[in-house]
Amino acid sequence: MNITETQIAQVNKQIQALIKAESFYGKKLEDAGVESISTADDFENLPFSEKNDLRNAYPLGLMTAPEEKIVRIHSSSGTTGLPVIIPYTAKDVDDWSVMFKRCYEMAGLNDMDRIQITAGYGLWTAGIGFQAGAEKLGSMVVPMGPGNTDKQLQMMMDLKTTVLCSTSSYALLLAEAIEERAIKDKIHLRKGIIGSERWGEKMRKRISKELGIELYDIYGLTEIYGPGIGISCSHDCGMHYWDDYLYIEIIDPVTGKVLPDGELGEVVITTLVKEGAPLIRYRTHDLSRIIPGECPCGSKFPRLDTIIGRTDDMMKIKGVNVFPSQIEEILKEFPEVSSEYQIRISHLDGKDTMRLYVETNGTIDFLDLAKRIASRVKSKIGFTPLVKVVELGLLPRSEKKSKRVIDERYE
Ligand code: ZN
Repeated sequence: MNITETQIAQVNKQIQALIKAESFYGKKLEDAGVESISTADDFENLPFSEKNDLRNAYPLGLMTAPEEKIVRIHSSSGTTGLPVIIPYTAKDVDDWSVMFKRCYEMAGLNDMDRIQITAGYGLWTAGIGFQAGAEKLGSMVVPMGPGNTDKQLQMMMDLKTTVLCSTSSYALLLAEAIEERAIKDKIHLRKGIIGSERWGEKMRKRISKELGIELYDIYGLTEIYGPGIGISCSHDCGMHYWDDYLYIEIIDPVTGKVLPDGELGEVVITTLVKEGAPLIRYRTHDLSRIIPGECPCGSKFPRLDTIIGRTDDMMKIKGVNVFPSQIEEILKEFPEVSSEYQIRISHLDGKDTMRLYVETNGTIDFLDLAKRIASRVKSKIGFTPLVKVVELGLLPRSEKKSKRVIDERYE
């Protein structure tokens, strides 16, 4: 997606506010001698913002509007070190709810829906974002917050909730609890708005089937408003995002170069109208691509593919950027292999080698299967791995994705 004239003008306003506020980004611009931009090239030469910049601004260094205009803060979880504090003006809060309302409309919700929200409230952006959008739409909100499955199910039955907002893992837990208690005939859900985690096709099908609902993926991060900046439509081919509020680029996470539409890389987001804490070229470390062309649903809003992982998982092999999730996608095309796999990368005789271990049962021709998988990886990613097929149950079972990749080059 090329940046438009309107978006460039909006970025210039954000730049002026950042310079005036003397925020970290304002200083970056001053160091680079930039006061405004006029072309797409200028934009692509603007410095990135990083999570660390945001942490260093703790507690209120990101505040870009005058204090009297700030009405609220949110904070992203600080798993490592200081949290990030994002100040919002009244307009930011309203813009966010407008975007969230659009998400609900994209998912086919209306003012007669009853929306049960199981996301957390408080510093975290999730719960309150889901709620503000629902109120803007005119739906009835059931603001449960997380946990307490018995009470969730009671309310779901008694209030005839039609929409569930939750994480994929909690939706699955609820689906299982409904099955266990044999209360499916008392549940009136028709749709699920599922956010904040990466989830596989298998899990999605299971939730959808057991709850008998259509599912929509919602996208967002606290640094950029929160959830609600994009959502999948009924055609389920990527998430539409609101390009009148955000400009999204996909970059090569190593070189920082902008990639053409359709190519996989790191999602980088620029806010276009944010007041409390505008962000220019914020590196999300989320891995996705922009889907070229128009969606069959007819919406003109551009599409970002489902987030397939984090750039931190990236491996560089023979000069090609590879993500474990890409390998996983390819293995899904082979019903004869189990969901377990292991990747070992080594450096032998001056070149990188990837060995890919997969499992199957004894009725399959191991050599033939290995060849087929290797050629599929070659055609989809661009290099040929050494595929080793082993007997079912031989690979170590691990909860953590990262354990599946062993890079022997640095041991
Ligand atoms: Zn669509």
